[in-house]
Amino acid sequence: MIEKEKIEQAVTLLLEGIGEDVNREGLRETPGRIARMYEEIFAGMEQTPEACLGRTFPVKDSGMVLERDITFYSICEHHLLPFYGKAHIAYLPDGKVVGLSKLARTVEVYARRPQIQEQLTVQIAEALMKYLKPKGAMVVIEAEHMCMTMRGIKKPGARTVTCAVQGVFAQDKGMQETFWRMMER
Ligand code: ZN
Repeated sequence: MIEKEKIEQAVTLLLEGIGEDVNREGLRETPGRIARMYEEIFAGMEQTPEACLGRTFPVKDSGMVLERDITFYSICEHHLLPFYGKAHIAYLPDGKVVGLSKLARTVEVYARRPQIQEQLTVQIAEALMKYLKPKGAMVVIEAEHMCMTMRGIKKPGARTVTCAVQGVFAQDKGMQETFWRMMER
């Protein structure tokens, strides 16, 4: 459960820590505002992928399903700064599929938590394998990290690409090639 009061106290301390006057007009409502915002951007803390992937539809002899360019926003757990970009999700059904919007919802469940991109990628692929039980799954995420662009090495535009493969996508390089070919369309 997200405890808004704790977040408010923490933000107040943080502002005091950087030397701010927490009582000045512009900041007075900031702790409460951030607490409400955190409820939204960390909503995944209280969600499971089961709700998204639990409901499936039977399908016969389906080829690969690819949902690409799913925009997401997440928060890097090392700096609590945003990273954001696109997720591409593919799976090879084994007799059942999920509604397409459910793939995007699954991304949201994991993105709306303190994250690192590598883990986000793997968690989505593992959730697909666990709940949908396809023959295989492949997830590619490309993202820009604010902790790289506004601080540290300051490299705006640098994108990090991560990839997770499971099942037939791990065993069969041809499946991965098909994924990349479909991505070019
Ligand atoms: Zn970071």
